[in-house]
Amino acid sequence: MKIDPKHPRALSLQNREKLVWGVKNGITSPAGLIAFGRGEAFDYLLSERTQPFAKKAIRAAAAYLLLAKKPILSINGNSAILCANEFIRIAKLLNCRIEVNLFHYSQSRVKKIESLLKSLDPERVLISKKEEKIILPEIASKRAIVMREGIGNSDCVLVPLEDGDRCQALVKMQKKVIAIDLNPLSRTAKYAQVTIVDNICRCLPLLFREIKDLKNKDKRFLEEIINSYDNNKIINEALRAICAKLDDTL
Ligand code: ATP
Repeated sequence: MKIDPKHPRALSLQNREKLVWGVKNGITSPAGLIAFGRGEAFDYLLSERTQPFAKKAIRAAAAYLLLAKKPILSINGNSAILCANEFIRIAKLLNCRIEVNLFHYSQSRVKKIESLLKSLDPERVLISKKEEKIILPEIASKRAIVMREGIGNSDCVLVPLEDGDRCQALVKMQKKVIAIDLNPLSRTAKYAQVTIVDNICRCLPLLFREIKDLKNKDKRFLEEIINSYDNNKIINEALRAICAKLDDTL
């Protein structure tokens, strides 16, 4: 479908088309379309802009990722179809890998997403191998299947468009969890150490830039960013922004 770039919702329409293509080509799950719709509703309430609270979270996320000994980027079907290039750029900058992790799991979808990432940069993808797989405790879905060398041994995980169960389980395993979720009311948003309440397509380029800016700072500087960061406050600011938007409209 040809989308007029002047259409006020052009970006959103383009993203929908990408996701539909992703479903047709076995990369995105049909349920991913519904999750995207939920995200869009919240994005509307956030004026489809990266808000100041998201910028603070992006800075804290960059500090956590740079301080981590073994960071990893977790990717699902929606994130892959929308932002595969950004994942690769960030993984290169951090010298870390990307692991495919799916709620609606199928071997074929994992392979397709891995191939998509491999076509962009084979070094950055952690290719799943049967003998390397482990099952994380306390996760009811197939998201529990992870690679020992990837999420299994990581100390900091970027988890965009997450389900609350896995986020909570990763936090319980003492991992630092950075979530990207437009819904500040989700369990994921509540449990993560850092919640970026923003559209993944807008915030990943900003996260890349922030990591680049902070990359040469010393450990103490990064620790100060983390110590002065309060995720509950960020979530409250996001909720207040939504209320203010509704108030202004009434
Ligand atoms: P939880 O289990 O944490 O309560 P949920 O059931 O809402 O969350 P999912 O259905 O897995 O979780 O949906 C993933 C989340 O991703 C949703 O909260 C949705 O708001 C968010 N989301 C969807 N599209 C985007 C996007 N483009 N950018 C950022 N977040 C998004």
